[in-house]
Amino acid sequence: MDRSFLNDRGVIARWRPFLPVTDATPVVSLNEGSTPLIHSPRLSQIVGRGCRVFLKYEGLNPTGSFKDRGMTVAISKALEAGAKAVICASTGNTSASAAAYAARAGIACYVLLPAGKIALGKLVQGMVHGARCVTIDGNFDDALRLVRQAADSGAPVAVVNSINPHRIEGQKTAAFEIIEDLGEAPDAHFLPVGNAGNISAYWRGYNEFHALGRSTKLPRMVGFQAAGAAPIFHGKVVEQPETVASAIRIGNPASWEMATAAVRDSHGTVDIVTDEEILSAQRWLAANEGIFVEPASAASVAGLLKCTRHGQPASEVCAPCPLRQFPDEGVIVCTVTGHGLKDADTVLKGGAPLDAPIQATWEAISALLG
Ligand SMILES: *Cc1c(COP(=O)(O)O)cnc(C)c1O
Repeated sequence: MDRSFLNDRGVIARWRPFLPVTDATPVVSLNEGSTPLIHSPRLSQIVGRGCRVFLKYEGLNPTGSFKDRGMTVAISKALEAGAKAVICASTGNTSASAAAYAARAGIACYVLLPAGKIALGKLVQGMVHGARCVTIDGNFDDALRLVRQAADSGAPVAVVNSINPHRIEGQKTAAFEIIEDLGEAPDAHFLPVGNAGNISAYWRGYNEFHALGRSTKLPRMVGFQAAGAAPIFHGKVVEQPETVASAIRIGNPASWEMATAAVRDSHGTVDIVTDEEILSAQRWLAANEGIFVEPASAASVAGLLKCTRHGQPASEVCAPCPLRQFPDEGVIVCTVTGHGLKDADTVLKGGAPLDAPIQATWEAISALLG
């Protein structure tokens, strides 16, 4: 039987010539990537001037976040190199993804997590896929430091954090897909920034396709950090990062320099959004566009909404506005990085309690419907 069709949509299958794989690379895939680019009529209307806003919905990857794009490449390369185990530090989604792909590859997975700071759904994913999940009494930056030490020690484990260059390679494919869908690069690309690998990966992807003539322009890269975890915005390490958006609760990003270069070279910017703005954008997106994302993912949309509030008192300092001198009928893509169901707790904590049960009678229901 010809089995090749069974995996013709994964990131490696679709973008093989652009990735560091050869015929000798065993492909470990869950058909990740090829996520929808969804037009957002309401955000487009808010931005105005005929601009169009699209959401790259990365929550629809197999483990519910964009991390799968890089993980298929990282785990495939680890397997090719003969690794029997992988290790990562994680705010939750890297571990969920590493655990799933390692399970599929038949190798062990060790995960270091900051204790008490992981969304429940992500923790459950790591566990159910059989990873050895260990929480540490420290934050993500501490966990990453320990993973780097594991690598330097010569321990027989492959590191699959984004300091592994294969991760960034896989993640750049999201930019390829956007150019294919739009037939051109957007004018601006908004996304949340934590460890800053993704903004760097998109910039690389846009540049590669631009160099090949598949687009005629390059977007401005616009990153948003949580106000309490904004090392790049402030230009200094944040020792105790704090934000409800646990996936971007990072004080010392591994890809800091690459991200800074992406922002500089694209004439983009890095700005901040408060937890309040993040949670309100998360609810707004769910209630108005039918798209449920986790808090960190909503940072891109919170950022766009912030940029459209000119003239109103800003809650804090703004970076140079990415929408200044923005072309009429321009195109903006916001990446929404992960699925909302991963972190149901945060939604419940924010209210939305169920009312007490009503009587199971038609009278009660018909009164409800008015
Ligand atoms: C990892 C992650 C981010 C941050 O991406 P970086 O590459 O670390 O900047 C944002 N949102 C979600 C849902 C993530 O899982």
